[in-house]
Formats: sequence, C-alpha cells, structure tokens
Amino acid sequence: MVHPFQHCSACGSRDLAARSRREFVCTACGYRHFITPIPAACALVTDSAGRLLVIRRAHEPGLGKWGLPGGVIEGGETGEEACARELAEEVGLRLPAADFHYLTSLPNDYLFQGFLWPTIDLFFTAQVADFRAVLAAPDEVSEWAALALEEVPLADFAFPSNAQAVWLLQAGKPF
Ligand SMILES: [Zn+2]
Repeated sequence: MVHPFQHCSACGSRDLAARSRREFVCTACGYRHFITPIPAACALVTDSAGRLLVIRRAHEPGLGKWGLPGGVIEGGETGEEACARELAEEVGLRLPAADFHYLTSLPNDYLFQGFLWPTIDLFFTAQVADFRAVLAAPDEVSEWAALALEEVPLADFAFPSNAQAVWLLQAGKPF
C-alpha cells in the first residue's frame, strides 16, 4: 500500500507493514506510523456588496488555479484563529478570529512531497465592508478578485472542497 514513510522513524528499518489504510507498523521494532487527515481552515470573505474574495494560487499544488485563502491549522490554534492568520498572511486582511463563523467541513486531498495527504477543510465565513486593504503575498497569491458568487470560476478551482463550499454559498445555505 502506498504511504509516505520511507523508513521507520524509530529504528530506520525500511520494512513497514500496512495494518490498515491509515496504520503502518515497523516489523523490526513495532513503531506505528499513521496517516490521519490534516486539518485546514479556509476563509469565505464577502464584502458589503456580497462579492467573494478569491485568490489564484502561486504555488503547487494547484499552481495557477483559483481557490480560497486558507491553510493548515497549527498546534494550539482554533479553526477561527487559523483562518484569521492565513487571511492576514495571504492577502493582508486583518480580522479578529471572532469575525469568522463556521460554515461546514469537507474532506480534501493535498499533494505534498509526493504523497496525496488527506485533509479536512473547515470553512468559515466573514464579512468586510470592502477589500481596499487587500495586499496579496506574491509567494502565495499571484492574483486576487472580488466576484459575485455566480461569477466565481468553480471549474478552475484547485480543490473540489473549496468549490463545493462556494457552491453552498451560491445555493443560499444560511450562515
Ligand atoms: Zn522500527
């Protein structure tokens, strides 16, 4: 079974046995390695006109495709805090964590260092008066846009989970 562990991280043995889709056990020392979903937070930020902030990705995976600001939740953070941090890092918008409201969670896959890791994307909505403060970080975002929900190019999104979350907004799911 495909897994990202080249060696046992305890003894260095190359002999890892799959016990399930998520558990790989070293046959030499018994150390257990796991593949579990990585939590990520994604921001659905709209302005007073109802336009959604979308970004074009400046790196792989999904280089050149559209998506939402967001990223991996760090240890000790809430989803809302991660959302606020990622939004500030990627597009320069500084909102308090309390401004983010949970919408939904959707599974996703993220190609990293040659392995397709499972993630669980947590989506949060937030509202701002306007996007005048947006300043994209060039290593993360090559372009940004504020689009009416029905104009968001979901077919050009990097991740189906992000597109599905926007679709939920388009469908008028209350938040
Ligand atoms: Zn071992």
